[in-house]
Amino acid sequence: MKIIKTVTEMSGLCNTELKNLKTGFVPTMGALHAGHISLVNQSVKENDITIVSIFVNPKQFNDKSDFENYPVTIENDLDLLEKANCDIVFIPQANDIYKDYDGYEMDFEGLDKIYEGEFRPGHFRGVIDIVYRFFSIINPDNSYFGEKDFQQLAIIKLMVKKAELPVNIIPCKIMREDSGLAMSSRNARLSINQKTTASEIYKTLNAVKESATVDQSPEQLISFITREIDKNDDLKTEYVVFCEPESLKSVNIFREKSSVRLCVAVWCGKIRLIDNISLQF
Ligand code: AMP
Repeated sequence: MKIIKTVTEMSGLCNTELKNLKTGFVPTMGALHAGHISLVNQSVKENDITIVSIFVNPKQFNDKSDFENYPVTIENDLDLLEKANCDIVFIPQANDIYKDYDGYEMDFEGLDKIYEGEFRPGHFRGVIDIVYRFFSIINPDNSYFGEKDFQQLAIIKLMVKKAELPVNIIPCKIMREDSGLAMSSRNARLSINQKTTASEIYKTLNAVKESATVDQSPEQLISFITREIDKNDDLKTEYVVFCEPESLKSVNIFREKSSVRLCVAVWCGKIRLIDNISLQF
């Protein structure tokens, strides 16, 4: 497994040796867990070469303390990637990757202002800037994103469409702990008790998935979910929404034979967690 730390070396390699190989790319912020590795495994299966980036992107953090406390476990990350048969790990520095790059201007069509965007102003602007930059350096055939960050996935698909980039965006399923808690690098900052409490988030979402009917109103279910989650000490919902899976428009009525995504953000103590689940009517 090759480790590359400069943009010059990475783009040089992509424009020469890798040019005619089918390339899969998995962008990450490190502190890797089985969720990230599931993306890597899929890329290894579907491409000649798999490139994983590890970069804690300062531009996408609206909360300074979240950025400063973001877990860094580089030795363990490299070990996991090696075992997963990753070919290249790209670990750039911020001043190198953002040198001579003003960012990608995009009309988000309002997608950056709702849900995550409302509570994390500027977050998606930062995500788009770095992903566009990575795509222009690596020019991958396929790029893998977790459904865990459901809104991010929708925004990246929109960017690829608007910029007409020749890359397939491949959505990957959410990987969970045995308790149901969605795997996340931020879980490392939860105590054992908090992890148990946080698993109530998925249990609540799953219970609603199993029982929801078209006759129920999304509004009432949102109140129910909020109450169920918030009755746990240490948990506080920030938003709960039912939305259309592609447009992310919020859904005010359930319709027969439709698919709806239930998305939540919940604070567990000082750690902000997100999760989502698909409902079929
Ligand atoms: P991050 O390092 O948090 O930026 O995540 C890098 C990629 O891994 C993103 O596409 C995430 O959606 C994906 N990811 C993170 N957690 C999970 C998970 N539990 N299951 C599947 N994909 C995940």
